[in-house]
Amino acid sequence: MKKEWGLFVKNESLKDYVSSSNYIVFFGGAGVSTESGIPDFRSKDGLYSQAWKYPPETMLSRSFFQSNTRDFFDFYKKKLLHLSVQPNKAHQALASLEQTGKLKAVITQNIDGLHQKAGSKNVLELHGSIWRNNCVSCNTSHDVEAIASAPGIPLCSCGGVVKPDVVLFEESLNDNIMIAAMDHIAQADMLIIGGTSLGVYPAAGLLQVFKGDKLVLINKTATHMDSAADLIIRDSIGDALSCFL
Ligand code: ZN
Repeated sequence: MKKEWGLFVKNESLKDYVSSSNYIVFFGGAGVSTESGIPDFRSKDGLYSQAWKYPPETMLSRSFFQSNTRDFFDFYKKKLLHLSVQPNKAHQALASLEQTGKLKAVITQNIDGLHQKAGSKNVLELHGSIWRNNCVSCNTSHDVEAIASAPGIPLCSCGGVVKPDVVLFEESLNDNIMIAAMDHIAQADMLIIGGTSLGVYPAAGLLQVFKGDKLVLINKTATHMDSAADLIIRDSIGDALSCFL
């Protein structure tokens, strides 16, 4: 029977769920990283309209990368390349849960590498990572510093552009990572979803393969999946998961 859901459901229920589960998967969105101080790249700061000529979805598209490479990297370095940010309680709690053997995979839409920084091992990065960068010509991998320290367009010694291994608009997700993510979710008896409104592809599709009996949503605001959840926690993701630290 479905538990009553709402503001009053507290962390104890979450702990009960975890203790009765053997195959937990976590699926996280931008909200997991904002609690570390990483702003959503879509957020408009005061200088936004003066600083950027195009909307972020344009500046982070494949075609813009190819046609306006210098502007792409200008935006990318200022808005996405957060190298000194530290993991928060959510990342740390998930790393601890993985060590208990119950949490089998973290599936993330974030590209900041904070789960790995916190110690998580099995992280499926649907949108890639700022920490991996490859030459578009010879495919040599480059340190992230090659991007961060380049005055303009980062270049390989062969002359090719060094491209971050992040999925741009107009690019498709990595098939192998999607398959692995679906495989984990299909095996899970508990799925925790946090920091995402679940509005964008591929979240909805991934959820459809879940056959377990414990779907937990941790989000500060309502999502269209709320009616399908067994447990809803309206809290910051860090606070909600801190019971596992
Ligand atoms: Zn090269």
